Amino acid sequence: MCHAFFNDSRFYQFLFRIDQDIAAEVQAGGCSCGGVLHSACYPRKPRGIRCALDESCESRLSFCCAADGCRRRCTPPSVRFLGRKVYLGALVILVMAMEHGLSAKRRQQLIEQLDLYPQTLARWRRWWRKIFPASRCWQANRGRFIPPVDVSQLPGALLGRLRPEDLQHRVCLLLRLLTPLTTTSWSGSLRVVINPQKM
Ligand SMILES: [Zn+2]
Repeated sequence: MCHAFFNDSRFYQFLFRIDQDIAAEVQAGGCSCGGVLHSACYPRKPRGIRCALDESCESRLSFCCAADGCRRRCTPPSVRFLGRKVYLGALVILVMAMEHGLSAKRRQQLIEQLDLYPQTLARWRRWWRKIFPASRCWQANRGRFIPPVDVSQLPGALLGRLRPEDLQHRVCLLLRLLTPLTTTSWSGSLRVVINPQKM
């Protein structure tokens, strides 16, 4: 893999701490009925780069309302899990961003290393080129980028437009930007910010 942090468990631990901060913020807000939110995590088994992932990656933080008659599920946004995708969001960004520059041989190595199906790559490509550009999340953010980001070159074009020098920090910011797309059971504006000092 061409980026060392990709295989580094500390990177995923950092993302986990951000998810914990987001979850704490959501939990503090309580259920829309006024009820208290209790922890009710989902078990997950993300694929690819198993060696870098510890048990913290095996649960998606989530809550259930404790009030009788409500019990509403509330899953906070996440910088790790991109909706129902079985690969972590960081991979969905990085693999797609570097796909352009890869030789056929290197691409095949990547597919084998991450245990990816070619159909998975095709689905991710479609997500970045069609679904993401049409999302409210992107519609709300695209105006921040002048000149406009070329959506036919996503996610690489967007990654290249984020300010920080180091790629690891830029991937984190892009994951943060994508958080509204990672849950359907909570909506609101998050205050959590990415602090690179804590990486
Ligand atoms: Zn409730």
